[in-house]
Amino acid sequence: MAGRIPEDVIEQVRAQNDIMDVVGQYVHLKKTGRNYFGLCPFHSEKSPSFAVHPDKQIFRCYGCGESGNVFSFIMKIEGLEFPEAVHNLAQRVGIDIPREEGTSENEKARKRKESMLAAHDLVAKLYHHLLLNTDHGSRARNYLLNRQMQLATIEEFGLGYSLESWDFITHFLEKRGFSLSLMEEAGLLSRKDKNSRPFDRFRGRVMFPIHDSQGRVVAFGARTLGDEQPKYLNSPETPLFNKSQLLFNLHRARAHIRRQQEAILFEGYVDVISAWQAGVHNGIASLGTSLTEQQARLIRRNAESVILCYDSDQAGIEAAFKGADLLVAAGCTVKVAQMPKGMDPDDYIRQHGGEKFKQEILLNAFSLPSYRLQVIRSRYALNDETERMKFIHEALEEISRLPSAVERDHYLRQLADEFHLSLDAIKQEQRKIFKQQKKAGNRDNLKDGWNNSIDSSRYVAEKPMLPAYIKSEQYLLVLMMHSAEIAEQVQAKVGADFAIEDHAALAAHLYRYYAEGYEPDVARFISYLQDEKRLVEKAAELATIDVQAHLMSPRILEDYMEHVIKNSKRMQIEKLEKEKLKYERMGNTAEAVRISLELIPLKRALK
Ligand SMILES: [Zn+2]
Repeated sequence: MAGRIPEDVIEQVRAQNDIMDVVGQYVHLKKTGRNYFGLCPFHSEKSPSFAVHPDKQIFRCYGCGESGNVFSFIMKIEGLEFPEAVHNLAQRVGIDIPREEGTSENEKARKRKESMLAAHDLVAKLYHHLLLNTDHGSRARNYLLNRQMQLATIEEFGLGYSLESWDFITHFLEKRGFSLSLMEEAGLLSRKDKNSRPFDRFRGRVMFPIHDSQGRVVAFGARTLGDEQPKYLNSPETPLFNKSQLLFNLHRARAHIRRQQEAILFEGYVDVISAWQAGVHNGIASLGTSLTEQQARLIRRNAESVILCYDSDQAGIEAAFKGADLLVAAGCTVKVAQMPKGMDPDDYIRQHGGEKFKQEILLNAFSLPSYRLQVIRSRYALNDETERMKFIHEALEEISRLPSAVERDHYLRQLADEFHLSLDAIKQEQRKIFKQQKKAGNRDNLKDGWNNSIDSSRYVAEKPMLPAYIKSEQYLLVLMMHSAEIAEQVQAKVGADFAIEDHAALAAHLYRYYAEGYEPDVARFISYLQDEKRLVEKAAELATIDVQAHLMSPRILEDYMEHVIKNSKRMQIEKLEKEKLKYERMGNTAEAVRISLELIPLKRALK
């Protein structure tokens, strides 16, 4: 599997795909010192520990340890095998690698996916054509135009119309040679039961193409023109379409989101499109399901702050709270825009225009605590004395949960002002509630405390201080990565005598790498390791160690080699001595003596 693509082609692909550009498509990077940092796309974090080293063309996360070169990155983030990652990046820079006919399962899966993508592309174009250019599409066309959708917007989003027919798309796909059962798996067709003939899944609906991160159509959202149920129908989960990991319009909005460092999260596709038409280009939406943890992380990778712009009904409020919690956990600053009662963002924009939407709704978005207080407030009739007191109590509970004293103070003052209460009195009351919460919370913490103590002991056990010999082995490998001559010397003197198995394996690969005539180049060496994920990570980790010039001196190199060899001998001695002891206990004197003889030269060498 690996190695089918010629080595020099792999290298050409690697050299033309700058790691900064490739990683930059997924991670927002900021320069710190010589390197660039961003939030790790492979684990959840609030402060950036994911580093890209442009000079070495490698990345490394200091949080979760993921590391490697540009191929490793694409393999991990797109879930590809090594050859697929090479093809992916080759395509990116326009290098043509002829594909060999493969028979492996991966190859089959890839072909099926390609066929599904091709079908989606064709069907999207067909739906679009039906909407704009045919009599069948006139009702849908009028529906959209009546909703003030402009032609340019319909074209930009590739909106379409599915005919009121059970087999129009089925015939269309069949005629073009697509396998109907595959098209059913792709979500374009349905069938009643296993043995019946497939039919068109979407009929008589306005079609919204849904794209993946690379802008390819992978699914559809479909809306009825009348009152039929369900009002919205989405493609099912398919090998192309993972609802929990994609966001509607992200491929189009990404650049705007990055630039503004802010995303606007809507509930519906129409809201996103309507906002786009009104000049708000950083809008995205989840795909007919509530926001997921993966989506929250995806948003955080692109923006620091998010405005939730949901409907003002009860369902919308609950969805906003849930979404806000996930986004905060992912490290976003969250604001909530409040729509007037009974309006969704699309209604509002149509009635008041984009400028007013920006000024009145987006700019007036509440901070999350304000929004929570606002929602609590709406549950009470504040002109009633008792209700008012209940509201104040509940508000104080909410304020007490805020982690920052400055924030708590801010909202306490607001509350005191509004209800003409003395600030002292209200602070006193809040402290009382705070203490109660703490007491209640402490019981919970106790439980956590137990877990923590177990966890922390394991943590310590797993991360002991590195013994000196490990450091010496590491430095030796780092030096070898930088110099073919050093590698040659190490090969002659140390050979395979590394105590750590992975180090011995890396050394062996380095000997071979240079023997095959390659130049020192960390990222290239990592390509050379290809599928050996553990070694790739180890190599990238070592590559991040900076080598100062003085360390390259022959004397220091000698010292390292000495140290590594001696340690290797020491470990051999320990092992033999244990064996000797075993034989002595068993009364096998002959074996014990044999081992003693073996030990003599080893011990002498250590002196
Ligand atoms: Zn990480």
